[in-house]
Amino acid sequence: METMSAIALSTASDDALAAMLAARGAPAFRLAQLRRATWQPFVGGLGEIRQLPAGLTAALGQELLFSTVEVAAESEADQGLTVKLLCRLADGQTIETVAMETPARGEARRRSTVCVSTQVGCAVGCPFCATGRMGLRRSCTPAEVVDQVRAAASALHRRRLGPVTHVVYMGMGEPLAAYATTVASLRVLTGPAGISARRITVSTSGVVPAIHRLADEGIGCTLAISLHAATDELRDRLVPLNRVHPLASLVDAGTRYAARTGRRLSLEWCLIGGVNDSPEQARALAELARRARAHINVIPMNHIEDSPWGPPDRRTEVAFLGGLDGVTVTVRDTRGADTDAACGQLRAALEQRRMLRPDGTLSPPRAVAAV
Ligand code: SF4
Repeated sequence: METMSAIALSTASDDALAAMLAARGAPAFRLAQLRRATWQPFVGGLGEIRQLPAGLTAALGQELLFSTVEVAAESEADQGLTVKLLCRLADGQTIETVAMETPARGEARRRSTVCVSTQVGCAVGCPFCATGRMGLRRSCTPAEVVDQVRAAASALHRRRLGPVTHVVYMGMGEPLAAYATTVASLRVLTGPAGISARRITVSTSGVVPAIHRLADEGIGCTLAISLHAATDELRDRLVPLNRVHPLASLVDAGTRYAARTGRRLSLEWCLIGGVNDSPEQARALAELARRARAHINVIPMNHIEDSPWGPPDRRTEVAFLGGLDGVTVTVRDTRGADTDAACGQLRAALEQRRMLRPDGTLSPPRAVAAV
């Protein structure tokens, strides 16, 4: 990576780049070439931009950072359709990014979705979440979020997959606690990166004032609420933020968001065996979804190493889903469950393995490869 004081290519303004080029005597058309190359998944560094003279890219490298993330490790799951990246940031912190390819099926077109992290760790502290156990170290910068999408696009491209069609803010961290980062990165992804806001989903555990603010930004991405419990009593325990912003205010904010943006609200439900899989919770969830005209996404929980939390048995899952009368429900496949997917788990697993080895090298027993 280039120097710390350099500015990030992905979030640099046109004016800043034009000034940089002009200072080196480059003609104005170089700006468009630089901009185009920023989003090409086969370009891995300034020196790989064939249209630019080598002398110019070398000079630009003094103050322009091609990417703010460096892929420290990659792993594959689902026969190579899911690629998980461990991204190292300039200060040595690491975050996770996941790219998922969904082949075309019936009427549905193929899609490539990238799941980005917005924070290193998370302060919300949901007890079932691997990231929550870390606490919050810091928020990502807008460039670190955008560069995760670029790194994932490259990883897909190398496997002859992609291009990226969808982005979900569902990785490590609470995107609306990193509000400025989330909004600035959304503006780049929906602007220069050319991804439609309709294909971007921001997932929140319930920062109510920030939901209202986001509704008024004019971006128009989809909002997903990580609900996980349909009564305050249970949600206070599962998502501690609920003690500050209880369910009624959260569902109201989500409903207003949907009305302001015209985007249908999603309610995410991580189905945890023996915790939120009862018929009473299913009934209460269906009632909330009907009121908010929301779609429900049920995600049977992945196992977390050294954790009592896990998915319910199949019969309980079927009974729970049967209780969601009169609402649209999708059951999401837990992509990557065969290695270490889910929020924070790839990173936690790699750190654990690193701790196990005296020399700190990554030599995982399963399909994780240091790069
Ligand atoms: S589930 Fe989301 S909000 Fe809760 S601790 Fe994990 S990353 Fe934070």
